[in-house]
Amino acid sequence: MARDPRYDILFEPIKIGPVTAKNRFYQVPHCNGMGHPNPRAVAGMRGMKAEGGWAVICTEECEIHPTGDVSPYKEARLWDDHDIPGLAMMCDAVHEHGALAGCELVHNGPSCPNHYSRELPIGPSHQPVNSYDPMQARAMDREDIRNYRRWHRDAAIRAKRAGFDVIYVYAGHDLSLPMHFLQRRRNNRTDEYGGSLENRVRLFRELIEETKDAIGDRCAVVVRYATDELIGPEGLTLEESQDIVGMLAELPDLWDVNVSAWQNDSTTSRFKPEGNQEPFIAFVKKVTSKPVVGVGRFTSPDTMVSQIKRGVLDMIGAARPSIADPFLPKKIEEGRPDDIRECIGCNICVSGDFTMSHFRCTQNPTMGEEWRKGWHPEIVPVRKSEDEILVVGAGPAGLECARTLGQRGYRVHLAEASAELGGRVAKETKLPGLSEWGRVRDYRAYQLGKLLNVEIYRGSRLDAAHVLEMGASRVVIATGADWRRDGIGRMHGFAVPGFETANVFTPDDVMAGKMIAGPVIVYDDDHYYMGGVIAEKLRRDGLEVAIVTPADLVSSWTQKTLEASHIQRRLLELGIELVVKQDVTAFKGDHVELACVYTGRRTQRACASLVTVTARLPRLDLYDKLMAQPGALIEAGIKSVTAIGDARSPGTIAAAVYQGHRYARELDEPPTGEVAFKREMPGLAV
Ligand code: ADP
Ligand code: SF4
Repeated sequence: MARDPRYDILFEPIKIGPVTAKNRFYQVPHCNGMGHPNPRAVAGMRGMKAEGGWAVICTEECEIHPTGDVSPYKEARLWDDHDIPGLAMMCDAVHEHGALAGCELVHNGPSCPNHYSRELPIGPSHQPVNSYDPMQARAMDREDIRNYRRWHRDAAIRAKRAGFDVIYVYAGHDLSLPMHFLQRRRNNRTDEYGGSLENRVRLFRELIEETKDAIGDRCAVVVRYATDELIGPEGLTLEESQDIVGMLAELPDLWDVNVSAWQNDSTTSRFKPEGNQEPFIAFVKKVTSKPVVGVGRFTSPDTMVSQIKRGVLDMIGAARPSIADPFLPKKIEEGRPDDIRECIGCNICVSGDFTMSHFRCTQNPTMGEEWRKGWHPEIVPVRKSEDEILVVGAGPAGLECARTLGQRGYRVHLAEASAELGGRVAKETKLPGLSEWGRVRDYRAYQLGKLLNVEIYRGSRLDAAHVLEMGASRVVIATGADWRRDGIGRMHGFAVPGFETANVFTPDDVMAGKMIAGPVIVYDDDHYYMGGVIAEKLRRDGLEVAIVTPADLVSSWTQKTLEASHIQRRLLELGIELVVKQDVTAFKGDHVELACVYTGRRTQRACASLVTVTARLPRLDLYDKLMAQPGALIEAGIKSVTAIGDARSPGTIAAAVYQGHRYARELDEPPTGEVAFKREMPGLAV
């Protein structure tokens, strides 16, 4: 298909200092949980995006020196020449497809406890390190500053040798020394690097000038700068940033601008819509003639065009949209934007950084698996048999399984009990803030609609007899899971007294619209988003709500998706009481009994209803019935019955999509070994 001429502007080349980007799609730096210990995985992932049409592809944070060691997080590293070959792999993979490779050089100063290197942390002034680690950064003296400038220059030269085309001076996210020197609350110096704005900007300016001097002949020198910390006058404000950008306007070859800290930059769709950073970055283009890049979870080509035409941005920056769909630019270029697998803004990808493991994506099950499993997001192996496959259940697992099997060329029957596709996503997308999650269903439903070899049966609840009659040779059970009603979960191994009575509800009941009387207590022993979202819904419905959790924080796991602080604030602002470090030990009809998780001290709390959010049980009745009659399966010609997704093991939507994809991709393929992927073994050279 031909490209829509409205989008031509997105494919105009643009000069960035001495290099030229072939179009306006710019993958800004983003972490991935793989980093320097996994150079092949990183090269595979970045190279895939280059293949998908991104013009500039950047690293994650790249440490320049052992005093700026961000371990245990796995980021890029250029401490000395030993680190060059790993990053050269990424540059080669990116160059193979005509894209530019960018390196985000970083020294995170007082944000680095230096766990691995055991060097002393450094910063503009004496101050505790950002984490709660029991150590302080020492104030840098003039020699330290000279050394730091030298380390940055040396790292830039190494980056150039590795093959990078674009080299960053990074001052973003309440991280990195140039940013720390700019911040009045961190910089109490009285020398030429502290006090006046001009003095606080000095280090940033010197780094840009010295990097240009070192490698600017062949490489572009760009900055990443956060214009507002969103913490009021204690932090860097938009007003001060206008002066700072004004002072340095023409110095870098490109401005990559965003807001700080990370949870305000990579905000989930539950809290911020597409393009929400515009008020904080729109001024930059008015101040500089250099290209400007910004992010905003852009997935709509119309929004992208509007950003450029309205003079907000020159290049469309993206981390998450490029993770959810590495082929986003190609799909627009080829005139098929409807095929874009749009990011849902859930930040499961971010959790890869915090868990220090290969990152993953709810929408794109191949993300992080490019090298170690050889998975391509757009290409699947063709089918290796004539088998017909029946997939029961059209939630995320069943939809992805049917879609991938269909793409491989198998004949597929997808049966769904309800009239609607999407399973849990269809329900959860109606909860407050989760509407974008519907994209998990929408992308797959649209793709399935194009596959003539896939038949979808809506409103078809199958029992074992139906399955045996259908004549499929393989059966996939993707029937999902139900929330438990008995309180069993992390805190309780036995049913909680009183939970069997009326007025105790589950998230499934709430989503089904059951009448619930207030005041209500939401008991959250699940710790991801559901407890908080249910509390928010019930409060918005007008009920008096308190949320009780054994954890120190409501929705504790969402610290890994950068949502925890947003969630506490939203719930508090809605007037929901947050009761933390308390367990619910019984429901008595008009009150619950609570116990402090540390002291065991018991209290009571009045309520008319309780919603219990603890754990889920797989819906395995159909699976169990089929497996109980092996003779009938053989007679019906059924070679295998496999449970996937929440029906096998309840988890995240990302996990269900991954399992659905994995089943479909691996069907009839040669078996993998016990370890189902390649590993990068540590080199023994020193
Ligand atoms: P997952 O996250 O694993 O995809 P979901 O709970 O989202 O699981 O989806 C499971 C889907 O399976 C639901 O839409 C449900 O209606 C459907 N389902 C459950 N049992 C049957 C059945 N016996 N026949 C057809 N569909 C079923
Ligand atoms: Fe987007 Fe979620 Fe995928 Fe991250 S994990 S890229 S936020 S869909």
